[in-house]
Amino acid sequence: MKIFAEELRQFIYCPRIPFLRHNFGTRTSTYSMKKGETYHQVKTKRKYQLKDCQTHYQHYVESITLDIAAVPDLILVYDDHVIVIEHKRFLLGKPHFSVISQAIVGGLCAEEQFGLPLKEVRIVGFNGITYKIIVSSQLRDEVVSAIRELRNSLVENTPPNPIKNKKKCHACEYQNICWTI
Ligand code: SF4
Repeated sequence: MKIFAEELRQFIYCPRIPFLRHNFGTRTSTYSMKKGETYHQVKTKRKYQLKDCQTHYQHYVESITLDIAAVPDLILVYDDHVIVIEHKRFLLGKPHFSVISQAIVGGLCAEEQFGLPLKEVRIVGFNGITYKIIVSSQLRDEVVSAIRELRNSLVENTPPNPIKNKKKCHACEYQNICWTI
């Protein structure tokens, strides 16, 4: 079962969301749409003043090895490594592990697709603040482990318990369904 980067972000935010999405929503439309629309925006490259790299905006990538897929906001491909950039509108302070994991899933896919190692991911707030995260082997293992947990959860298809921090529920689009099961 293929796991999508955004799905992993949601799973880490609340393990119940992918279950609800899988059973009551559309799981893959965003990705299949993006896959069909994959494009490169060379013009935008100037805006970021990026040099010595190829830029791939909203480019569908997947890892056959890990059976994961992603559409990162931006992939930078250098001669000897790749970097993935994700933009987060509501970033307040250091990004949460869920957001970092989403970017790393994109990076692992890009790594396999371009045949170059993933060195870092960057999370950029809309105020321009950028967090650079070096992808250590430990961090990589944590993300792969979270992917495994999510896949097991979807295969079992039993609803995980609701989270205790109800503040998170206010921003959840599945709350109406969640509270009925
Ligand atoms: S409403 Fe709360 S418990 Fe239910 S899926 Fe959303 S975040 Fe999780």
